[in-house]
Amino acid sequence: MSENVEYFFENEVGYINSKELYNKYFECIKIAGISTPLSSLKKNLGGILISKFGEEALDLLNSNPLKNDWLSYLSIERIKHIHPIRHVLLMVALSNSVQEFLTNEFGYKPFGNGPWACMNILSDHYTMETIKDINLVFNKYKGEFQGEFKCNCGFTYILNIGENSPLNIENFHFRIKEKGDVWNREFSKLVSRGVPISEIATITKQAKGTVRKIIKFGHDSFEQEKARKRKLIIKNEDIQKNINRREWIKLRRKFPNLLRTELIAANKSLYTKLRSKDAVWLDENLPLSKRGRSKLSKEAYFEKDLAYLEKAKYVINKWSEYEKQADKLIKITKIPILVRIGLDSRYVNKYKMTFSFIKSVLESHGDYQIRIIKNCIATHFDDTELKRYKILSLSGLRKLEPQAKKYLDDIIKEHNTPK
Ligand SMILES: [Zn+2]
Repeated sequence: MSENVEYFFENEVGYINSKELYNKYFECIKIAGISTPLSSLKKNLGGILISKFGEEALDLLNSNPLKNDWLSYLSIERIKHIHPIRHVLLMVALSNSVQEFLTNEFGYKPFGNGPWACMNILSDHYTMETIKDINLVFNKYKGEFQGEFKCNCGFTYILNIGENSPLNIENFHFRIKEKGDVWNREFSKLVSRGVPISEIATITKQAKGTVRKIIKFGHDSFEQEKARKRKLIIKNEDIQKNINRREWIKLRRKFPNLLRTELIAANKSLYTKLRSKDAVWLDENLPLSKRGRSKLSKEAYFEKDLAYLEKAKYVINKWSEYEKQADKLIKITKIPILVRIGLDSRYVNKYKMTFSFIKSVLESHGDYQIRIIKNCIATHFDDTELKRYKILSLSGLRKLEPQAKKYLDDIIKEHNTPK
């Protein structure tokens, strides 16, 4: 760890542009397989940190993600506020060492390095590995990345993450995004050579009806028709999506106090629909889980505790002013402080910092008597000799606590001794 910290500071990592740094982290996060769903990213990243360093070590560095929400600063805007030590932790957790993190070029390669097979059955290179580049596109409905494989022949298909080979995909025709010029040309050749429709259907692995339609309307208008239908489907899906969203919002309003699992149980089928078609939105619109809620209220109590603590300190600082206003000394006890800061003593376990501060400033009876004696001497005796009976009668003190008695003895002796 210390080597990593050294490397971090020697190489002035702190000066890396935040966007670049963020992107690099995110590449590593994708490689680690925890980029989706986004709603669990923080939790999963926290898990990686804990398994790498252990909670104890993270506690020592005040960076245990279970106790401190610092991972929520992992965004382009806020990343610059992450403490250097925490950057070191992230870099080491995501790529073994700071040096490796800084020097390696990371690329998220869920489909490996390629090249990949072209699936154009009418080309002369069907299933040969002719595709060199793929496009990673984020499917916002699924909340997942997908690969778009486009060959020079124009043929383009789509694979989901986790699918290793296009050859094993059932209903592959649903994955074809574009057939391209080569496919169209070869198809036209078959038609003009008089190959029967059923045979063309077998060759092109399409339904006879589809083949007929392509012949009747031509490739372009067939594709346009397909595109139009696709658009219509998407439009209908959008409409349905909005209906589902509204229904979910209504459900949340109806049961504002339900926890996540309870609300899901209240309409499981709606939840399932949203989960499969609109996962990103759903994650943003789930109520808190039981754990999340208790955590939040813990944080809320912590904030309030801090605020009460500030008030309590203020009250103690002003104590002599209150005494001036009352024209007498006031013993520092719990209740007057609580009344002044507006806190009830029942909450002693909720606002621990405040109550422990109050406990630390409370005055014992002896302390209070000493304060009275001091005050009496200051107001009634300048350079005159101190007389015990006079002090006691002026201050109204009767029975002195041992420490007050000792203080009085000492102060009389000191005061009355000629200098
Ligand atoms: Zn091709």
